[in-house]
Amino acid sequence: MAGAMDSLELVAREVAACTACPLSAHRTHTVPGEGTAPASLMLIGEGPGRQEDAEGRPFVGAAGQLLDRMLAAIHRDRTNVYIANVVKCRPPDNRTPSDDEALACAPFLSRQIALVDPDVIVTLGATATRLILGADVRITRVRGQWHALGERAVMPTFHPAFLLRDPRQKRLVWEDLQKVAARLGIPLAEGQGERGW
Ligand code: SF4
Repeated sequence: MAGAMDSLELVAREVAACTACPLSAHRTHTVPGEGTAPASLMLIGEGPGRQEDAEGRPFVGAAGQLLDRMLAAIHRDRTNVYIANVVKCRPPDNRTPSDDEALACAPFLSRQIALVDPDVIVTLGATATRLILGADVRITRVRGQWHALGERAVMPTFHPAFLLRDPRQKRLVWEDLQKVAARLGIPLAEGQGERGW
């Protein structure tokens, strides 16, 4: 639908001009998000890293390549999902965004969620999960269970950058993605899954 994509482009232009938090001082490019809208599935990460800051696109480094393989395992790619981050500017040294920075950027993410209008949101890692489900939520407690954001279903799972550091956790994330696929009615063939990531 051109209307939602046009409105996402408007959000991206506003992000490019935004100086609402200190992260604006360090960025090379803003990284608003990427994908299509409306989309049944939206993924939300933490913030841009070095490569994302250089290119202005989300999840293009090693973690992003892993995310692409994870999506492929449930027959999804960047043409049929939307991918965004909590903050649209790179935190220095890839530190975790502060609560103030996340809250300053949250109106952009809220508009993106409304425009993408997903049935399912996958939060990748602790920062996105806390912003969507509540500040006192712990990813290790809520991962793999369905939660709600209004009428949308939310599946928290681990961030692909964490999986690069601890590949043993891929098995749990594959369990989460299979739940997402089942909820969206995506049939999965035998033998797919984390061994191919
Ligand atoms: S991180 Fe978000 S709120 Fe902060 S300057 Fe960038 S676009 Fe604005």
